[in-house]
Amino acid sequence: MSIAENIHHFEAQLQGTNCRLVAVTKTHPVALLQEAYNAGARLFGENKVQEMAAKQPELPVDIEWHLIGHLQTNKVKYIAPFVHTIQSVDSVKLLQEIEKQGAKNGRLINCFFQFHIADEETKTGLSILEAEEILQSEAYRAMRHVRLTGVMGIATNTDDEAQLRREFQELRSYFEKLKASYFPDSEAFREISMGMSADYRLAIEEGSTLIRVGSAIFGHRNYATSAS
Ligand SMILES: *Cc1c(COP(=O)(O)O)cnc(C)c1O
Repeated sequence: MSIAENIHHFEAQLQGTNCRLVAVTKTHPVALLQEAYNAGARLFGENKVQEMAAKQPELPVDIEWHLIGHLQTNKVKYIAPFVHTIQSVDSVKLLQEIEKQGAKNGRLINCFFQFHIADEETKTGLSILEAEEILQSEAYRAMRHVRLTGVMGIATNTDDEAQLRREFQELRSYFEKLKASYFPDSEAFREISMGMSADYRLAIEEGSTLIRVGSAIFGHRNYATSAS
């Protein structure tokens, strides 16, 4: 199937749900992103700062760019002028740098806390305790250019449905807890980013509001020839 057909297929599956599609475009050239855009995709996810910053000026301005990969503080400045949401916030230090760069650019930058939900050590993210520590800190309370709008998690790479469901439920419970304790009146805090090509159906059933889909739209990634 073509990229356009794949996008239409996902849009059809998401009809009537509370969930939207983030097209994960890492390693793919601008021409393919344009193809996805032409088919209706507007939320694009990249995991590398340089790659996102290189592609953004080549594409329409109404794209919502989501950074979904680990972000080093010294690189925030390259995406701060345009990024819509940074889904991978995992420290107060990073949040402080986003605040600083948001102020410099006169922008309010949406951020998700990334939680560690997989049973794999390699996957990064906060615990619920660490997230609450950040929300209670003086530093966070003084911030005016970052806005917490949701949570993100990457489940274990497994076929075990029961385990995937448990991990998605865990992320959702973190969202509910933070919502109740810190954002009861905030309409902005509303996103649960979970589900990828292999597990998005389960994620939607467990309450995902943003699925991040790459290979099921664009095919396999070839890292050797990628643009960055
Ligand atoms: C690459 C990536 C995805 C998309 O993965 P697919 O399996 O290709 O759908 C989703 N989320 C994150 C954080 C990623 O790095």
